[in-house]
Amino acid sequence: MTSLDTLPYDVVIVGARPAGAATAMVLARAGLRVLVVDRSHYGDDTISTHALMRGGVVQLARWGLLHQVAAAGTPPVRGSVFHYGEDRIHVPIKPGFGVDALYAPRRTVLDPILVGAAQKAGADVRFGVAVAGLRRDDRGRVTGIVGRDEGGAPFEVGAWITVGADGLGSTVARFAGAPVERAAASAVAFIYGYWDGLPVHDYELFYRPGVAAGLFPTNSDQVCVFAGTSPRRFRLEMRAGVTSAYTHLLGDTAPEVLAAGARAPKRLRVFAGRRPGYLRQAIGPGWALVGDAGYYKDPITSHGITDALRDAELLSRAIITAVNGKADEALALAAYQATRDRLSKRLFTTTDAIASFAWDLDQVPLLLRQLSEAMSEEVTLLSGLEPIDAAVELVGTSGNKWSQGDSNP
Ligand SMILES: Cc1cc2nc3c(=O)[nH]c(=O)nc-3n(C[C@H](O)[C@H](O)[C@H](O)COP(=O)(O)OP(=O)(O)OC[C@H]3O[C@@H](n4cnc5c(N)ncnc54)[C@H](O)[C@@H]3O)c2cc1C
Repeated sequence: MTSLDTLPYDVVIVGARPAGAATAMVLARAGLRVLVVDRSHYGDDTISTHALMRGGVVQLARWGLLHQVAAAGTPPVRGSVFHYGEDRIHVPIKPGFGVDALYAPRRTVLDPILVGAAQKAGADVRFGVAVAGLRRDDRGRVTGIVGRDEGGAPFEVGAWITVGADGLGSTVARFAGAPVERAAASAVAFIYGYWDGLPVHDYELFYRPGVAAGLFPTNSDQVCVFAGTSPRRFRLEMRAGVTSAYTHLLGDTAPEVLAAGARAPKRLRVFAGRRPGYLRQAIGPGWALVGDAGYYKDPITSHGITDALRDAELLSRAIITAVNGKADEALALAAYQATRDRLSKRLFTTTDAIASFAWDLDQVPLLLRQLSEAMSEEVTLLSGLEPIDAAVELVGTSGNKWSQGDSNP
């Protein structure tokens, strides 16, 4: 056993990316003792494009982190352009809810900013630590994690609440036995890469029957360009190789990208899209899920990071309320799940409808309008939240309900 075993934590979080690092930051800012572990390495990239919707930008602004995103050279995006076949509709980003632009920071930029904020707030963050299971007490309550530390040695650590922020294929969800409560039907396969010299300053989204593409201006003056299609067409296209598949899909969807004379990516990233979305039960005795671990929807609507940042806040508030004894833990966590589900339902079903490609060019704008309405609901809730220190009493460093209680693990 390593020294981790001896450290007492209120909350241990598995996964140090948008969901986990943001949850750790909010909890640590409120005075909780937090450990975050991740099996990857600090600053690693991950398979994901990274357009933030307004809700995600609102969260970064509320947390005082947006200036770091801008300072890293992430260009502000002041409009979205929707291409439906030959039709082109430009929608400006109206200033509102404390933000006047959107951003699509590389994950090598955003994730370290969140990790840094968690550490600055006092959370312990450990990379290279792989979680393999959960601890439980005699009553079956989850009381922490087991796994291997950075050197490969076995470790266990106890905590009052164990949070699974460990993404698709979550180990915490599996060992907690969190059932899927709502399942989507469709999954999109993506190929994306980073272009130099593309004169693009807005988010640009292209829709054609059976295919979609997107352009997101990002760091280093590059533009992230994805092409997406059904897994069936993806398999057919991939027979000729990934470069051919990408070029062919883009040629069908956004030929102006190929014609722009810009420098195409040297490296392409592939996501085969085998997994339709799900909403899992997000809470149980001693555990909770946040981000993709509990709620995954197809990336076609570019909303996963935004929702992860939203739910990090909602879960943290529930935990802080419980630790302060302001609400029964089970009720506080149930309220988190209820709010997550209420805000996610429309996003989830509309995303699944878009991911199905069972739409024509008259129908897809209507689906995107539904998505936009669901996003407004999310943004209204987030921007209306009082700062945590005003909404809930901060947890004193000398101890909280859990550390004083007789059953702290
Ligand atoms: C192709 C693609 C494109 C996308 N594009 C967008 C987009 O444009 N905009 C957007 O908002 N979202 C997008 N998403 C979705 C977005 O990537 C996810 O919603 C987001 O990463 C979820 O964050 P998370 O923190 O929940 O999980 P993740 O980012 O998946 O992080 C989970 C972390 O948990 C760690 N972990 C897992 N298991 C263990 C274990 N057993 N022990 C220790 N650590 C563990 C992993 O190493 C990982 O670092 C896209 C996704 C894909 C696949």
